[in-house]
Amino acid sequence: MKKAIVIGAGIGGVSAALRINKLGYDVTVLEGTDTVGGKLKEFSMDGFRFDRGPSLFTLPHLVEELFELYNKDVKHYFKYKKHDIATNYFYKDGTQFTSYTDAEKFADEIRKVWGVEVNEIMHQIIDDYKKTSPIFLESGLTKITDLFTKEVFEALPVLTRLGWFETLHQFNKKYFKNDQLVQLFDRYATYNGSNPYKTPSIMRVISALEHSDGVFFPEEGMRSIITSLTTLAEEEGIKFKFNEKVKAVKHQGGDIKEVATQNNVYHADVFICNADVNFFIPEVLNEKIKTPKPKELSSSAMVFYWGVDHSFEELDLHNIFFSDDYKKEFTQLFEELKIPEDPTIYVHISSKLNKKDAPKGAENWFVMINVPANPELFTDQKVAEIENFVKSKLSEFLKVDLHQKVICSKNWTPKTIENDTLSWKGALYGLNSNKLTHALYRQRNQSNKYKNLYFVGGSVHPGGGIPLCLNSSKIVETLINE
Ligand code: FAD
Repeated sequence: MKKAIVIGAGIGGVSAALRINKLGYDVTVLEGTDTVGGKLKEFSMDGFRFDRGPSLFTLPHLVEELFELYNKDVKHYFKYKKHDIATNYFYKDGTQFTSYTDAEKFADEIRKVWGVEVNEIMHQIIDDYKKTSPIFLESGLTKITDLFTKEVFEALPVLTRLGWFETLHQFNKKYFKNDQLVQLFDRYATYNGSNPYKTPSIMRVISALEHSDGVFFPEEGMRSIITSLTTLAEEEGIKFKFNEKVKAVKHQGGDIKEVATQNNVYHADVFICNADVNFFIPEVLNEKIKTPKPKELSSSAMVFYWGVDHSFEELDLHNIFFSDDYKKEFTQLFEELKIPEDPTIYVHISSKLNKKDAPKGAENWFVMINVPANPELFTDQKVAEIENFVKSKLSEFLKVDLHQKVICSKNWTPKTIENDTLSWKGALYGLNSNKLTHALYRQRNQSNKYKNLYFVGGSVHPGGGIPLCLNSSKIVETLINE
């Protein structure tokens, strides 16, 4: 039986292990830390449970597919439900907006709050998403023949009207008229760590994830996505070895022959790397790469985890509190590479849907702002200042003094994100997509140098975020099968 080694047990690594095992390989996953998940972890504090990293779950069929591959009923492993509210938005002038996942209901709310008609453009965006996703998000784009497919042919009308040299913000201004509504649609650029004033207008398709397929809630927390897949993997004979950080490789004749950890050497026929390529290629493969410039990296995050001794009727699972000057926020974030002075704040509260996540009458808040992927900016003093500012700002929005209501707190900074998940500079999604050409800079899913080395996960094609990491392992399955 042929052997495969997967390096890293993030969502990309575990899903790749399942796919390659199904192709008939004997698979071992080597994970540098003591557990699976990478960025997808959780912890508890004083009776509150917190999702540590990702909080928004979309495209669950990509997880279901992995259970279907083994003829297993997903419901026995992983429970999730659809949630009909994508996000509650709050603006400084007191405007509040509930974004429903149902496209018609969403358009009705926009008409009520801002008097703008968006039905037609929303349907066009959903259509753009459906036609372009197979090309840009589901194909390896490794060879020229990838561009001569039925999907590309069918998408030609969409591809010609994409507005290749227009930014997302310019597109949104043209169609959404109202400044607050433009801000709402601009925010989708942050879903892959980019700047709406720079990223190409094709990024509008990100909004279609919420308004065509919907937003979902894993009933046992975000981490259950990866633990359920790991349970399946173990049942299917995939072996996991923890505290086995891969430090070196041996190669011969254009193939990798073995990888070495501190303790062991592992031989295999195929190797799949789920580690961040910006660490792996220079440090483990010992090759020179063009280190990404700070302005090319996706944003990172400053996250505060708060146990809040209060219950807020106006809040939902996902909530956004906008800054007044969005342009300035993104200039500081991506051009000046500074922590924004007045950041937009995202608050995720899983206890809204799972009461077990917080004591009675209290809520578990995951509070996040976008910050540059630069660990050096985050001294203890700076983190304390930001936390204080964020508490004051949210207290103003909600008219409740959060300085009194937050009863326990922890944080995660780019520095600790980098340390804990071995992600270059703590960037959440690898490179940003601020330029059209950035998509071409992403590491492809097969190595140019070693025929039997493949790459999955957020630092490679097609990009970061759980759904794209799951797509990367599908692409690798196709490449290995070919
Ligand atoms: P990672 O999670 O990066 O894990 C890689 C694994 O490889 C780690 O376990 C690491 O220890 C291991 N490893 C690295 N090097 C080695 C080595 N040499 N040897 C052995 N093992 C190694 N995505 C969403 O979809 N929705 C969200 O709402 C969302 N919000 C986010 C919020 C935050 C705060 C963060 C941090 C991320 C968020 N993301 C979100 C992004 C998402 O979490 C990631 O894109 C995804 O989890 C990355 O998965 P991955 O497969 O790249 O692996």
